Amino acid sequence: LASRLNHIEDSLVSVNEVVIGGDHRTVIAGPCAVESEGQIMECAAQAKQQGAHILRGGCFKPRSSPYSFQGMGVEGLKLLENAGKEYGLPVVTEVMAIDQVEVVAKHSDLLQVGARNMQNFDLLRALGKAGKPVVLKRGLMATIDEWLSSAEYVMAHGNRDVILCERGIRSFDQSTRNTLDISAVPVVKERSHLPVIVDPSHAAGKWQYILDLSRASFAVGAHGIMIEIHPKPEEALSDGPQSLKFDRFEALMLAVSPWL
Ligand code: PEP
Ligand code: MN
Repeated sequence: LASRLNHIEDSLVSVNEVVIGGDHRTVIAGPCAVESEGQIMECAAQAKQQGAHILRGGCFKPRSSPYSFQGMGVEGLKLLENAGKEYGLPVVTEVMAIDQVEVVAKHSDLLQVGARNMQNFDLLRALGKAGKPVVLKRGLMATIDEWLSSAEYVMAHGNRDVILCERGIRSFDQSTRNTLDISAVPVVKERSHLPVIVDPSHAAGKWQYILDLSRASFAVGAHGIMIEIHPKPEEALSDGPQSLKFDRFEALMLAVSPWL
């Protein structure tokens, strides 16, 4: 179902009024995690003002340490939903477990499968029946075949609206948090008709590289980018070092404007 072989045309995935794929170019922006009403409202206002199309914000957070901020849960979902409504932006947030699918689908427009859950096959099966489009992040150690195979799970269980997201893979180099596999974009576009976007924030792990990697993503043909922004990155409860301050996000949007 995910293969280009039986489906020559690019697939388009609609997230409310926003169309992703084909000739469309999409920017998703927002904080790593929803932290408070004020914070998500400020991010939504900024995303809208700079011309982003979709608002992101994690509420169920897959943290490496059990002692790190785990997200606001359902309370955060409601804040995210309200911020999206206030600024006319569809919202995307991560769903980590099968028992969260229903509530996340109720409050958001696009369901994110995180890198750590790319091969959680039971979750993928459940998302086949979720009734909302899915953005499937590439696993930290996943080959492109494994990633497409995971997309196939969601599709085979009833949901054709899958967007792939390259977010960097583990490599030997510690200069960046992960290594952005920019070649994954043309490879996926050759093998699959599904839209493919890039998350340079989680790949780089440092705000300094996000603008150049965003330009590279569009230059190589990505259908969109996902960017973490925060009003005060130094005070962020997660992923502060890779989050863009608003003026830096403005500069990024200017730099990618030729593609939008
Ligand atoms: C995120 O988008 O905040 C996130 C946790 O991403 P990933 O699953 O790619 O690490
Ligand atoms: Mn993050």
